[in-house]
Amino acid sequence: MVRELTHFIGGKHTTGGSGLFGDVYDPNTGTVQARVPLAGRADTEAAITDAAAAQRDWGQWNPQRRARILLRFLQLVDAERDSLARLLSAEHGKTVADAHGDLQRGLEVVEFAAGIPHLLKGEFSDNAGPGIDVHSLRSPLGVVAGITPFNFPAMIPLWQAAPALACGNAFVLKPSERDPSVPLRLAELFVEAGLPPGVLNVVNGGKEAVDTLLEDPRVQALGFVGSTRVAAHVYATAAAHGKRAQCFGGAKNHLIVMPDADLDQAVDALVGAGYGSAGERCMAVSVAVPVGEETADALVAALTERVNALRIGRSDDPEADFGPLVSRDALDRVRRYVDIGVNEGAELVVDGRDFTLPGHENGFFAGASLFDRVGPRMRIYREEIFGPVLCVARAADYEEALRLPSEHPYGNGVAIFTRDGDTARDFTRRVHTGMVGVNVPIPVPVAYHTFGGWKRSGFGDLNQHGPDSVRFCTRTKTVTSRWPSGAREGASFTLPTMG
Ligand code: NAD
Repeated sequence: MVRELTHFIGGKHTTGGSGLFGDVYDPNTGTVQARVPLAGRADTEAAITDAAAAQRDWGQWNPQRRARILLRFLQLVDAERDSLARLLSAEHGKTVADAHGDLQRGLEVVEFAAGIPHLLKGEFSDNAGPGIDVHSLRSPLGVVAGITPFNFPAMIPLWQAAPALACGNAFVLKPSERDPSVPLRLAELFVEAGLPPGVLNVVNGGKEAVDTLLEDPRVQALGFVGSTRVAAHVYATAAAHGKRAQCFGGAKNHLIVMPDADLDQAVDALVGAGYGSAGERCMAVSVAVPVGEETADALVAALTERVNALRIGRSDDPEADFGPLVSRDALDRVRRYVDIGVNEGAELVVDGRDFTLPGHENGFFAGASLFDRVGPRMRIYREEIFGPVLCVARAADYEEALRLPSEHPYGNGVAIFTRDGDTARDFTRRVHTGMVGVNVPIPVPVAYHTFGGWKRSGFGDLNQHGPDSVRFCTRTKTVTSRWPSGAREGASFTLPTMG
């Protein structure tokens, strides 16, 4: 049976008026499991209208009262964690265990945002001048919108919505149309937790909904996470409409293996971070950089054995290392990139192109592929594949290994595996990427630090979650006050100074 999904506007479910629908697939079988309405301009404007109306009251609630809604939300999600993870896995294709991680990383940002009374405290300067005090306030922006990708349908909507709501904004979420059920359910749970209807609205859809959010003057700020092509477009268009924007794009994350690294640990890290979630993570490791021929030969030999042994299965198979890709298009793209790599002259050590899961011939399963001797000019090195394909780019020495991620157009995450503190410290200071791991393959920062890539991986100067998210979701007002008690001083025609 095909489920019928809706938008969630003003606390009510509606299919809107566009008459357009998209298909949500079961990636295990390749069949349609749900239909989602695609919002037109009028549907999106209705969501913005409700959000703007609801924000007027919500923005006046004291921060502690708003935090209580987040705390109640956490309890409600906790009670249905498993069903949410299963729903997420069934639409996305990641394993159920991995879907739990997707949800958990999102909840950690809700926990962070529940500290909002403390986070919103302004600055105060006593006696900044004669009888003068100065203080700052952080005010909500009004309506904030978020446009999120398919690959973290719980985590990224929560990363965006929780700080925005905690700061007193209303939020319009436009999740990926490929796996919209979990974001919808999370919005329902916010309302069940006591969030006034309209403060959080979900509009499903694609470009038309996004264009409306970009152009409507009532939307003050916009967060985007997805591919670099769309991130760059959203950033430029938001700026042209006078909006604040933070837009995060694609990635090509390198993992450097120094000759002194523990090879078993490095191989475990590469296999997990390269092939987990079928490589559909913005922090997936897609390039391994062994330093020196000896390290490279040993690494490729160990990787070959491990990659050949990976277990690919249904997303609900508890034994599976990874499940199917999200769509037929994604599967075709991954196979195309493996063809490209072969034509470019890279050495295909493990070929996953012909993999099929017995009984699931129409599912979107890609086998694991491993390339050796990948060069920095090859497309498989420069472009994001977003699938279970790991490229080994051999570096002659440390300086070459440092140059590879630093000169790459993307700059999301990078990792170095070494036992040498001096090398690790030098690397973390000199490498040109936004997030760095030392013996940590996926250095996604904890919720109370910020997450964001450099170069073509991130547009805008404020990152996601952590203190940056509070700055992004508020504007600062600075108040200078004076309570004169002495004699009248008369008019002054010179610029006031503090004496
Ligand atoms: P996508 O760019 O196709 O879609 C992202 C969002 O934009 C979706 O909500 C989609 O509906 C919307 N969209 C798509 N085309 C649009 C257009 N032309 N105009 C306006 N809106 C449009 O990305 P995706 O395939 O859903 O997600 C995968 C990508 O996201 C990968 O490149 C991955 O690296 C990236 N990603 C980045 C981060 C990060 O933090 N840097 C995190 C997760 C994913």
